[in-house]
Amino acid sequence: RKLVLIGFMGAGKSTAARSAAEALGTRAFDVDRVVEERLGKPVADVFAQDGEAAFRSAEEQTTLELLDDSAVQVLALGGGATASQLVRQALGRHVVVWLDIGLDTAWDRVAGSGRPLARDRDSFQRLYEQRQTSYEALADVTVSGERLESMPEVLDAIQGLPQGARMLWAATASSDYPAYVGPGLITQQRFWPATVDGRRFVVTDGRVAGLYGEAIQPQDGRVVIMPGEQSKTVAHADIVWTELARAGMTRQDVVVALGGGVVGDLAGFCAATYQRGVRYVQVPTTLVAQVDSAYGGKTGVDLAQAKNYVGAYHQPAAVLSDPGVLQTLPEAERASGYAEVLKTALIAGGPLWEQIAAGADPLSVEVIVACARTKLRVVERDERDAGLRQVLNLGHTVGHAIETVTGYARYRHGEAVGLGLLVALRLSELEDLRQQVADLLAAHGLPTRLEGADPDAVVMATARDKKRVGEGPVPFVLLEAPGRPRVGCEVPPRALIEAVREVAAS
Ligand code: NAD
Ligand code: ZN
Repeated sequence: RKLVLIGFMGAGKSTAARSAAEALGTRAFDVDRVVEERLGKPVADVFAQDGEAAFRSAEEQTTLELLDDSAVQVLALGGGATASQLVRQALGRHVVVWLDIGLDTAWDRVAGSGRPLARDRDSFQRLYEQRQTSYEALADVTVSGERLESMPEVLDAIQGLPQGARMLWAATASSDYPAYVGPGLITQQRFWPATVDGRRFVVTDGRVAGLYGEAIQPQDGRVVIMPGEQSKTVAHADIVWTELARAGMTRQDVVVALGGGVVGDLAGFCAATYQRGVRYVQVPTTLVAQVDSAYGGKTGVDLAQAKNYVGAYHQPAAVLSDPGVLQTLPEAERASGYAEVLKTALIAGGPLWEQIAAGADPLSVEVIVACARTKLRVVERDERDAGLRQVLNLGHTVGHAIETVTGYARYRHGEAVGLGLLVALRLSELEDLRQQVADLLAAHGLPTRLEGADPDAVVMATARDKKRVGEGPVPFVLLEAPGRPRVGCEVPPRALIEAVREVAAS
């Protein structure tokens, strides 16, 4: 199988191909350059003199030939090559690496370069949106266009990647890591990244231990906590630290967080602090965790006063998501995960929102990958919540407040977030969208009405939101439209009280 680089104009396919080829001790081929050699003129001249159709036909033929040529190991395709059905088919036999860049970065890199398709910003944007969907569908591996020189690490991380599994290269300011998504990845294939060595100490909860406790092999120790949010406390962290020490875990070893968001947040926090920080691998087993909590490195525990109030940023060494394990997830837990899918789709807008609005299966590999990618792109640009990352908090200011005032017992995290989304959309004055979201929540078995909590107490509890600075107003994430979140919005207290009371009465 060849390594084939795809991506939009300006993504850096040639640079990444060179970086990969160097690591593999071979040379990189670039379809555009080969076409230019064959036609004897630059691509821009082919467009101008012979037209785009002539270029596409030469491009398709050259691409297919190179994909069949045993002398070629690393190949960079042109941005539009994947429009060809024959090329897409041929790519199925190879490892396809998508260099994913943001629209603005792409435009900054190529505007004024004289490329025929980069002259007008609006048509550039349309083309970008159209191609994004096909790149995402084809990609075995997704790497940020900001990590062109990381191909050697990426290649190490995909060693032994089972066919059908995908890998997203997570880039953050503090460290990069692979996030794998594949049906059967741990249950059947027992995949473990070659890049993560050391003895494995599993932290899990009682229910997950019974179902998947043996999927991680070999295992040098295991700590089992009680299932549920009430285990996400410092007292439980103490138990985990103590058990790890008793089992003889050292700094060369790794913690494996096997479970949902509760296990992930708690075990991640213990890994961040045990011996001042050891590596950990997230093996998320709930939908909440596979689409959201396992990525991004936020770890921590709750206080009785407020959620996630003590913790640390600590990126995992890898994430292994096996959607196969979601088959045993109880209905209510799937529903809870759906709320995070919905939140992510509202933030992402575009194709992900369209799919979710049209009723796409939230447990599908495509949806899980798209949600993970959305989150990772945000964290890449703002690991420590300086601004942009706060978009991920859509629906969470009120959601967390609901969890706190109900003692972390009445509502699951996702259920509370669903209610929080309704409040946020009310405050955003998007009534039609709010109704659409309420219908989607209800269709997935989620509550659309707040019960068992005093709305005024919920409003009081929002004052402890961690995004608040000093005595200032609580900053809300509001939405202008799907795909257009706004952070740091000030909401008048009256409007907030009315919006929370409304969801309590609806
Ligand atoms: P959870 O971890 O409590 O899991 C829910 C239940 O499902 C548990 O009873 C568990 O035993 C069971 N379970 C897990 N996997 C199963 C499987 N495959 N089959 C059958 N049962 C299974 O809850 P959650 O919803 O995964 O996580 C919620 C937590 O995640 C909250 O504390 C929330 O704050 C946190 N979170 C963190 C982040 C982050 O960025 N760190 C993001 C979102 C949510
Ligand atoms: Zn959440």
